[in-house]
Amino acid sequence: MATIPVSQDLRRGGSFLVAAATPDEIFTPADLTGDQRLIGQTTEEFVTKEVLPRIPELEQHKKGVLPELLKKAGEIGLLGGLVAEQYGGAQLDKVATTVLAEKLAAYASMAVAHGGHAGIGTIPLVYFGTEEQKKKYLPKLATGEWLACYCLSEPQAGSDALASRTRVVLSPDGKSWILNGQKMWITNGGFADVFTVFAKVDGDKFSCFIVERNTPGFSVGAEENKMGIRGSSTVPLFFENAAIPKENLLHEVGRGHIVAFNTLNAGRFSLGAYCLGGSKRAIADSAKYAKERTAFGKPIAEFGLIEAKLGEMAIRTFALESMIYRTAGMIEAAVSAAESGPDKSKAAMQTLEEYAIESSISKVAGSEILDYCVDEGVQIFGGYGFHEDYPMARAYRDSRVNRIFEGTNEINRMLIVQMLMKRAMTGALPLIAAGKKLADEILAGPSFEEAPAGEFAAEQQSIAQAKKAFLLASGAAVQRFAEKLADHQEIVAALANIVIDIYAMESSLLRAQKAARDAEAMGDAARTYIYDAVDRIEKEARTALAATFEGDALTTQLAVLRRFTKHSPVDTVALRRRVAHAVLAQNRYPFEAR
Ligand SMILES: Cc1cc2nc3c(=O)[nH]c(=O)nc-3n(C[C@H](O)[C@H](O)[C@H](O)COP(=O)(O)OP(=O)(O)OC[C@H]3O[C@@H](n4cnc5c(N)ncnc54)[C@H](O)[C@@H]3O)c2cc1C
Repeated sequence: MATIPVSQDLRRGGSFLVAAATPDEIFTPADLTGDQRLIGQTTEEFVTKEVLPRIPELEQHKKGVLPELLKKAGEIGLLGGLVAEQYGGAQLDKVATTVLAEKLAAYASMAVAHGGHAGIGTIPLVYFGTEEQKKKYLPKLATGEWLACYCLSEPQAGSDALASRTRVVLSPDGKSWILNGQKMWITNGGFADVFTVFAKVDGDKFSCFIVERNTPGFSVGAEENKMGIRGSSTVPLFFENAAIPKENLLHEVGRGHIVAFNTLNAGRFSLGAYCLGGSKRAIADSAKYAKERTAFGKPIAEFGLIEAKLGEMAIRTFALESMIYRTAGMIEAAVSAAESGPDKSKAAMQTLEEYAIESSISKVAGSEILDYCVDEGVQIFGGYGFHEDYPMARAYRDSRVNRIFEGTNEINRMLIVQMLMKRAMTGALPLIAAGKKLADEILAGPSFEEAPAGEFAAEQQSIAQAKKAFLLASGAAVQRFAEKLADHQEIVAALANIVIDIYAMESSLLRAQKAARDAEAMGDAARTYIYDAVDRIEKEARTALAATFEGDALTTQLAVLRRFTKHSPVDTVALRRRVAHAVLAQNRYPFEAR
């Protein structure tokens, strides 16, 4: 795949906070190659022909239907995207797997099952398996002959996964590992053949093991009665002196956390892509309904408040899509650059770690934007939005879990800031230097530095100033609380929200600037997002500063903040309506593949 060349300053994860990219440096859906588009089409056709007609059976949990569909997906190459060709996989690039994920999300339960198998179920073997383990499992996982799942959570250990109580000891003859304990909430567990199980060796060394379904002493519990994604399988697992061969240790004893957390990094990014697909679906369903439904003598699509909803759904989805493809492009460029090295899997793993901040952003923004879209979707459908015979009720229920699994959004917000601070301290990201430069600038008073010029000058200025607002608020919090900052979670979450909005603002604007087609409508979407985001950022920074300073010091800091967040009024009502008109003209999200 041709990758987008990126300058040195922008190659580090999180660097968007301290460096400004140009439009040519970001990957956008308009850059999709013919092959990547073809993957999208194939996936879309598969979902339309094979999956959607079977939703009633899937929702009623009819035995065998979901594994049958997963195996069919495997037959046409939709399961082996991450698996190297030498093990029978399709070895797709990061952008192609992103397209695939979003297209599968037309039915959320299918997306979750796919993620559980081809994502977090398969990744531990791809990146940490020995040659023998890869040869044994990957060819079967790539085709769907065997299905996989990822087993980390326990009844008493979810977010705090390292508090696992599942225990492992080596058998007296040294030939097997003996597992005892319980897992909870395991996606695909009801039918999976291969289980990646995390447990503590001798009660303290967190490690990872491959468990096969027919293992004596291992049993699978009943399906959970869930609020949503009812078509997916979620079960508890039980281990009572379950003996597995010694060679089924995955990676090293005591290094299970490396397997677990790196796998989740990859899973989080993909979850954002699945949510993107779900958001687009909600927009399409809502647009069609709004045109068909009449009230007070006209289609409800003609009412300003309905247009505002459709417009805002598309604007937020545009921001999400811009972030996701920008990140996918960066990951792919980094993986391709490292491919000449001796250990490709290690390079890919390091790349995932490098972009862990962007992956958490993808997860949090994706799940919350999807929640917004389905919530407004229900509202557009009115009473019919509350009825299970119409699509929005299920979409609304299905969406909610995305804020909970793959690390809750609270945990991911903490991680975003924690990872940034770690990078600042180790010098991997020049945040401290940027903070010092800002402090000098503040001391020097209002500057007459050259303002950006051109069509989007005001927006570029807003983004540059938003980065300063982040440096101001985060620098103050770090100085005041130092290593105790993690205990001030509300401040950390406010900082994370600023980071997420900055990435969304910048990615939206760069894409609109790069666009050759529909540039005007994309400009409307980017402008609206940026205008509203500046106000959100001001509020979050104010919250953080007010929890950090008091009295005169606070007054001074707030005056500085105002310098960074002042912006000229924009008629977002008109812009949002224009975006809504683009939605209604196409009966769907209007920026697809552009
Ligand atoms: C449908 C479904 C499918 C799932 N699939 C899988 C799977 O395939 N494999 C797997 O291993 N797991 C799976 N999970 C489990 C999921 O990852 C956990 O539910 C999730 O990590 C949260 O853990 P918990 O439920 O124990 O909640 P808790 O950790 O108890 O959290 C409860 C609340 O407290 C908050 N909280 C916890 N710690 C902190 C903190 N330090 N700071 C601030 N707030 C905090 C959380 O954000 C949350 O709001 C699945 C869950 C569901 C519902």
